[in-house]
Amino acid sequence: MMNAACIFCKIAARQAPAHILYQDDLVTAFRDIHPVAPTHLLIIPNRHIESVNFVTPEDEPTLGRLFRVARHLAEQEGIAASGYRIIVNTNANGGQTVFHLHMHVIGGQRMRYPMG
Ligand code: AMP
Repeated sequence: MMNAACIFCKIAARQAPAHILYQDDLVTAFRDIHPVAPTHLLIIPNRHIESVNFVTPEDEPTLGRLFRVARHLAEQEGIAASGYRIIVNTNANGGQTVFHLHMHVIGGQRMRYPMG
């Protein structure tokens, strides 16, 4: 369930510091330590899923929850109407640096597509 070497597992288990905004039985949301925009949140499954490449049918409720919490936090952060971007990076070409699946929720400024 938990990967002892994984920083996001430790955050979900509250064994590493983070500014946690939301947590339930399936997911945890916290502020990114290196924000690229005024609002930059990460939402992760509590279970250690390395990347989208490791998603299983049993993860479907968790993946749905990521989006529900994204909606909730976008409203709470005041970026729902102005807009935001959701990003899930996978492996090297996707720019993934932390190998515990996470959804970036980025907003508070106008973004160009693609970001590079
Ligand atoms: P990615 O490049 O998609 O794997 O994104 C990883 C993100 O995690 C980056 O935006 C980092 O700034 C962020 N990050 C890494 N370690 C932490 C941490 N301990 N607390 C909060 N955010 C983190």
